Amino acid sequence: MTIVPISKRGPVDMHVHLVGNGRQGSGCWLRPGWMHRLLAKFMLKQLGLPVSWDAVNFDESYVALLIRWLRKSAITHAVLLAHEEVYDVSGNKLKFGSLYVPNDYLFAVCREHPEFLPAVSIHPAREDALDELNRCLALGAVMMKCLPNCHNIDTRLPKYRPFWERMAAAGLPLLAHTGGEHTVPVYDKKLADPAVLSGALECGVTVIAAHCATKSGVTDRDYLPALVQMMEKWPRLYGDLSALNLPLRSAGLKFMLGRPDLHDRLLHGSDFPVPVSATWAKMRKLITSAEAKRCTAFNNLITRDHQLKEAMGFPDKVFTQVWDLLPVRGD
Ligand SMILES: [Zn+2]
Repeated sequence: MTIVPISKRGPVDMHVHLVGNGRQGSGCWLRPGWMHRLLAKFMLKQLGLPVSWDAVNFDESYVALLIRWLRKSAITHAVLLAHEEVYDVSGNKLKFGSLYVPNDYLFAVCREHPEFLPAVSIHPAREDALDELNRCLALGAVMMKCLPNCHNIDTRLPKYRPFWERMAAAGLPLLAHTGGEHTVPVYDKKLADPAVLSGALECGVTVIAAHCATKSGVTDRDYLPALVQMMEKWPRLYGDLSALNLPLRSAGLKFMLGRPDLHDRLLHGSDFPVPVSATWAKMRKLITSAEAKRCTAFNNLITRDHQLKEAMGFPDKVFTQVWDLLPVRGD
């Protein structure tokens, strides 16, 4: 089990992506289509990363930038996410998707930088899914991440029950993307609905709905009201505030600020490297112009997103209560 001394536990950014192209042997791959390539270019420019996404030294440059920014911020730890490949329900790997980040590369990066906590990614349809889950638990996984609509995962399928039961027994939380998605290709749009998470919840897994099921594109459905209803029913269901400092998703910030009764169930995450901006919170009058200006001055996106949410008035617990959910040991 991963060890983090209680005295070192401060605010956490619980939604940070690890990305790589594998050109130096990380095992990662990146295959962005033309639209995603433009998006990737834009994101790298925002980050100020001096290399292109297909450069030989991209993987190490990405990690170097991320750890530098994390150490400069008031965030003590980031939950770093692997990214699984896409499978059909019979467990056949599909040629679909734009990126892959293997669990072993994730563990290697986390071993080198203890500020990173490993969130593995395992498709439950894989023939070796349970073995891989047990292996990752032994290596210190603190979370399991997937995007049901992009990975093709409906947790309600009866064949996945042993997988969720093992996660529940180990106290490993599931971080699942909810709502529309526009940076990774979508396999099945219907699986953006948070209702697909009820299978894992029924097995006793702590589930975190990424982005609070808000809509990302204009044509997306807004599942936030459905998620809130589910949160009333399932005490182990949480929502993360990642990527909410974006044009449409920022509606979720306004909604959640008005629901202090739900703050015990909200977790701070940035969705790094997503280019979050102060503009949307300012437009929705969640922060003053002066605060927007101050936050914009941080080109460090880990800091910018954290400062924005503090300025909006999210309470301290939103930045720290994830510690109660993670299977980590103290001193
Ligand atoms: Zn994300």
